[in-house]
Formats: sequence, structure tokens, C-alpha cells
Amino acid sequence: MAKVRILPEVLAHQIAAGEIVERPASVVKELVENSLDAGATRLRIQVEAGGSRLIRVSDDGCGMSPEDACLAFEHHATSKISTLEDLEAILTLGFRGEALPSIASVSRVCLRTVDAAAGTAPGVIPGTELRYEAGRRVSLQPVAWPQGTEITVEDLFFNTPARRKFLKSVPTEISHISRLVMSYALAFPEVAFQLEHEQRNLLDAASVAGLAERTFQILGDPLMRNLATVEYDENGVSVRGFVSLPHEQRNSANWLYLFVNRRMVRDRLLTHAIRQAYRDLIPGQAYPVAVLFVETDPRLVDVNVHPTKTEIRFRRSQDVHVAVFRGIEQALLRHRSNLGSLARDLGPARPPAEDAREQRIRQGIDAFLRRTANVPMFDPRFRPAPGTTGDGPESASDQPHLAGPVRGSTPRGLSPHGDEIPETAHLATVPMVLGQFVESFIVVADRDGVMVIDQHVAHERILYDCALQAMQSGGPVTAQRLLVPQTIELNPQQKSAAEPVLEHLNRNGFEVEWFGGDTLIVRAVPALDREVDPLAVLDQLFHELESLDELDSGVLSPDRSLRRVQEKIAISLSCRAAIKINTPLSLEKMQWLVDGLFHCDNPYTCPHGRPILLRLPLEEILRGFHRI
Ligand code: ADP
Ligand code: MG
Repeated sequence: MAKVRILPEVLAHQIAAGEIVERPASVVKELVENSLDAGATRLRIQVEAGGSRLIRVSDDGCGMSPEDACLAFEHHATSKISTLEDLEAILTLGFRGEALPSIASVSRVCLRTVDAAAGTAPGVIPGTELRYEAGRRVSLQPVAWPQGTEITVEDLFFNTPARRKFLKSVPTEISHISRLVMSYALAFPEVAFQLEHEQRNLLDAASVAGLAERTFQILGDPLMRNLATVEYDENGVSVRGFVSLPHEQRNSANWLYLFVNRRMVRDRLLTHAIRQAYRDLIPGQAYPVAVLFVETDPRLVDVNVHPTKTEIRFRRSQDVHVAVFRGIEQALLRHRSNLGSLARDLGPARPPAEDAREQRIRQGIDAFLRRTANVPMFDPRFRPAPGTTGDGPESASDQPHLAGPVRGSTPRGLSPHGDEIPETAHLATVPMVLGQFVESFIVVADRDGVMVIDQHVAHERILYDCALQAMQSGGPVTAQRLLVPQTIELNPQQKSAAEPVLEHLNRNGFEVEWFGGDTLIVRAVPALDREVDPLAVLDQLFHELESLDELDSGVLSPDRSLRRVQEKIAISLSCRAAIKINTPLSLEKMQWLVDGLFHCDNPYTCPHGRPILLRLPLEEILRGFHRI
């Protein structure tokens, strides 16, 4: 009997749908793209239960005739292309004719539409209402419909339980949806966007004249002030948009809003060019914020790489890389006077007139960090070649060689030259502070060698452990009331991150509540032994919470999600309250810091995974001086 069978049509369609509809945000994406392609000037997106119960997109676009509406649910039915030439120069967001049938095969869909081009004949109801369930049409009838198209998608994946299980928590799905709507809102400033979750407005952006106004609407004023304008053309590639100054950093690529010919994309080539442009300016694991529009001849971009159309291929990738890299470089160079500032530790960009001493320190730190950025320890990579251990200067030892990593520890004892190795018994087992380097790093010695400690990250680790302990001890967390309550305005993504955790915040030392639509009022923050800027803490906290879904491996139990939120609170508090670099410290203060650090369970890395200390072991010192 033949083993090869043609799959039933419904199953085949569900499999195909899997590629396009991965999660609620994918449905939103396809529907929003359709509305934009239909020339809408006003778009309303309503969502319930993170999109799994309901997604509704309404527009004022061109609409469809009853015949077109029925055809639109057939596979490979599209009004956007008809020939191979069309496919090779795509100007619309959609072109595959697969989204509507795919969505319909894994949900219950209701479409209401009216063809803007059709005249109104007396006695004829021009609108159409169509219902689909699990890919089958269940009704078709005329309706009175004023304008445009409304598509409602209910019970996503109700007939594919395996898929439904992969849905993550409501905040995670909402965060994906928010990011998507924010992206399209950035790309289409002339279109009004409204996003609601359970009747709550997450985004309400009126139509504006251009990208700058829209970026301001979406990303908010404080961030906008730290962005540089990109305007660059080379080899037929135009790059426009905004990128952040180096002190404005993020810990995920979530804040790279990238578009090619107005299509939202995820692209390694573009991300690489961006990171290259920031190579010396921000740490390797950090990301800048970028809203970048690359425009090029559509014939040079292949968008038909993947069903979701977010992956692309450039036919002249080098030209695109160069244009993006140079565009950003030039934008940052226009702010050169501010670039001496070292990342987030230095706070907002300073005016150009900083004094010479400060400048020297900054340059020193910069050069120091650059030299050591990729070296986890002082573990000297340059060591004499094996077999060149003779006394006195030798050509080989003057010419350093690259050697492999040190393996194991060398037994201590007499050096091959007969010299005694230094006596270390009198050195305390607790690390002893020797001094401070460039007012930022603490130099410390113990019996095993010398260490350089980043004072900011070390303090961050200590405060983090304290804050977490206080929250997890079960008792009430001491709150510090603000003299004057402060308000913080949230952008849609922050708002969706904030909403589900307000209760946790209020149980962990904060006092915050909504104050109008997008504004939070802060009355208290958890007490630390240092002053913190409550708004900066909350701002960072919402950034941190946005990356939570990357850690999610499914819907978290309430206990685990509480723990995650507590960790994020501790990270944000400690980062904002910790002693900054460029701060002179007394020997006592430094010793206090170092003692505290070595009482932490993990004195080696900060909660974000950055190293806290660099170690130059005694063996390496001895080896470096050819004493063993
Ligand atoms: P594609 O967008 O790739 O053409 P879809 O399955 O997303 O495929 O949509 C099929 C067709 O339905 C579109 O080509 C378009 O003609 C029509 N359509 C879908 N949504 C809308 C809308 N909101 N307004 C007007 N026409 C629409
Ligand atoms: Mg489409």
C-alpha cells in the first residue's frame, strides 16, 4: 500500500498557516499591513486577552466588493501583484495572498467591508459580512457598513491546541503586539493609529507631518532628546531616521526599529552595520536605540524570503552596509563633543565645555576600556614563546608571541633562575585596597594576585543582593516616601510592561498608581542607604521588564513571575543607586566596598552579566617576568 498520501486540504492549510501565524502579533501584523496597503488613513486595533481571545483591526481604506471579499480568503488570492515582474519590484506590504486564508484556518474570523468605489444603488445594501471558522465559510450576507474594512479574529488557535499551548503570558503577547504597532506607526506618520487592550488605550497617535513628530509621539520626549538625526545617501541607498547617543543604551535588540522601503524588517546585515558604527562607543553586549529607514530600488531587495516577509535579502548588501554604517557614524560625529561621555554611567550628555582634566580622565577610561573590552582578565595574551626562558634580554622575549590560554596553576616554588618567589604570607586573605585608578577602578591585592574592580558594578552587585534579600525575606519592604510625588509618562510598550506588575511594585516598596491614561504617579520607592532618582529607576525597570519575555519559556507560575519582577526591581534600583565611575573615593570607602563585594555570593559578575573584576594572578606576574 502506498505510504505517501496527499494531506487533507484543511491540515495542509493549517501547516501553511503555522509559518505565517506564529502568535497574536503575527495576526496584527498581517491585518495592519492589509489596511495600510488599502490606503487607510486611520487604523484602530483592539485586542483582548493578549490577542488570543480577540483581535480586531478596523480601517477607513478602500474596502472590498462582495466578490473580492470572498476571493480574499482563497489561497494565493491577491490584488497586489499579478506577474513575475511585479514580484521582483514589490511596492506593497502584502503580495503573497496567504494571510487571510491562513488566519481563517486557525481561528474564527468575521469580516465587514464596503467597496469605496461602488456607487450606492437605491435599495441595495452595499456592505458585506463574511464569517469563517477553522478555514470554512459559515456565512455571507450583506450589511450596512459605512466605510472601510473591519476584521475580527477570535479564539486564535482554538482548533490547533498544540499551537495554543505555545502562547506566552498576556503581557508578553501584548508587548509583541505593542512593538509591532509602534513600528508601523513609526513607518506611517501620516496614518492615525490607535491600539487598545481590554478597552484600555495603549497607543493613540494622531496623524502627523513626518518622522520626527511621530518618533516624538511614540518614543517620548526624554529619549528623543538623546537621539541623533541620520540623513545619508550613498550608492543609491538612502538612510533616514534617528539613532541614540552612546549613553542611551539598551540590553536587547528590541529597540532597533528597522525598515526597508517602509517594511519592518529584522535583518542581520543592518544590525551588524549599526553595531559596527557603535563599536568603540558602547559595550559589546549593549544595543543602541535606532529608528532607521533604508530606501533603495525595490528591484534590489528580495522580500520573498520567508512567509512573514520580515526577512529580506539585499542584492547589493555591501552598499547597504556601508550606507548604514557611514550614516550613523556621521550622525554621531555631529555630536562629537558629547561622545567622550562613557555610556550610561556618565548620565546625560554634557556640554562641550568640559575642563581639560575631566576630558583626560574620560579619554583614559575610554582607551582603557577599549583595550580591555574583550579580555576577561589581565591574563596576558602576549607571552614569550615556549623555550625562550633564558636570562637577560633575548630577541624572542622582546618580540612577544601570541600564546594559548593558561592551563591549570603552576606549582609555586623556586623559579628556574634560582630566585625566591615573593613571599605573600603576610598579605591578608581578604583583598586589600591599594588605591584608585582614574577615579573609577579600585586596585586591590590579595595573596593570589592583583585585581582591578569596577567601582560602579561592584556597588551595583552589593545593592542588588541587599534589595533582593529585603524583598524575598517575606517581611514588608521599607519604603521611602518622596517629599513631592512625581509623575512619569509611559510610552505604549512601557505601559504594557507596567500594567501587569503594578501590584508587585506596590508590594515591594513602591507606591505607584495610574494618574490619567498614560501617566503613573510615584509616591514612594524602596528605601536604600543611598538617594535614588525614582523616575530613573522606574524608567530602567520598564526597560528591564520588556526583556522579560526573552527569558520566558512559557507562561510563568505566579511565584516565578514575582521572583522575576523582584529581580528586575533589584537590578533597576542597584543600577541607579550605585556609585558612579569618575567618583573619587576614600581608602575607607573603597575597603568597605571591596569587603561588601566579597560577601556577595557572586562577586564576579553584575546582574546583567558584566564582569566586576579583572584579575592578574601571581603566577601570571611571575611568568610575565620570567620568574617561573
Ligand atoms: P495579500 O496582502 O498578500 O494580498 P492577504 O491574504 O493578506 O494577501 O489579503 C488578500 C487580499 O484581500 C488583498 O490582496 C486585498 O485585496 C484584500 N484585503 C485584505 N485586507 C483588506 C483591507 N483591510 N482593505 C481592503 N482590502 C483588503
Ligand atoms: Mg496581506
